[in-house]
Amino acid sequence: MEIFSKVNELKEYIAKQKEKNLCIGFVPTMGALHAGHLSLIKKAGEENDIVVCSIFVNPEQFNDPVDFQNYPRDLNLDISKFKGIKCDAVFIPSVEEIYPKSDNPEQEPELDFGFLDKIMEGQYRPGHFNGVVKVVRRLLNLVTPDNAYFGEKDFQQFLIIKKMVELLNIPVNIVSCAIVREYDGLAMSSRNALLNPLQRQKATFIHSTLRGAKQRKLMYSPLELRNWVINEFENDDLLSLEYFEIVEAETLKQISYWKNSIETIGCIAVKIGNVRLIDNIKFTEGSKLTNNAPKRKIKNYKRITSYL
Ligand code: AMP
Repeated sequence: MEIFSKVNELKEYIAKQKEKNLCIGFVPTMGALHAGHLSLIKKAGEENDIVVCSIFVNPEQFNDPVDFQNYPRDLNLDISKFKGIKCDAVFIPSVEEIYPKSDNPEQEPELDFGFLDKIMEGQYRPGHFNGVVKVVRRLLNLVTPDNAYFGEKDFQQFLIIKKMVELLNIPVNIVSCAIVREYDGLAMSSRNALLNPLQRQKATFIHSTLRGAKQRKLMYSPLELRNWVINEFENDDLLSLEYFEIVEAETLKQISYWKNSIETIGCIAVKIGNVRLIDNIKFTEGSKLTNNAPKRKIKNYKRITSYL
């Protein structure tokens, strides 16, 4: 596995793969790798010739400087996790490498995400999605992958990245990957490592409440169900609910009644001490939005066209 820290080295490597017409899958991460990240890398390995992964704790997407400071980082441990899985190159740049100082800085395009960045994470973490869009656009421009992999745990982020790619006509296929959970249902997250044993135990309440909400779907309207969840967290002195919203999965607009033809998802953010965790649950089965096939290169293109 190649490890690059410089943009030029990465670009040179990518150019060589492109010359060989190899299909590139890309997995951007912030490190502190866990089985959720590894599931994205494995999927990329099954669907592409070459897998490139990046590890970069992007300061621009942290609205809270303490969160940025405390974010778990262990590069040696991360690198050891690639053993036994297909990953051809890892890009671990510095902040200066990703955001070089320049007298003439490139203007970020103004993108209209409609309602997608207005609620939930957009509302509670001002500026967060600007930072996410900025770094993912930069990384996609450097790696120029055929397929890029994102987890459904960050469902709103997945929708925004898909929209960004569409608005900017970036020639990449955005592939979503299912949430990987701990044995007790807690969604895997790098931030789980920051929980003390009691907090970790209590954190299972997030997923069990989401499951409880799904079981009550037939009993309540979306608004009543939202209130039920809010109520469940009301008397908890360790967990503080930031939001729970039941929304249309495509537009993130709140729904007032259940409709089978519309995919719906319940999204939650909870604070445990200083640690903020997010999760979600689909209220409808079978998703058109997240079942996207990978883009594949037609190999031996000349041989195929010679038959035509
Ligand atoms: P992060 O390092 O938190 O920025 O995450 C990098 C990628 O891994 C993002 O696309 C996340 O959505 C995805 N991811 C994080 N946790 C999980 C999980 N538990 N299951 C699946 N994907 C995940």
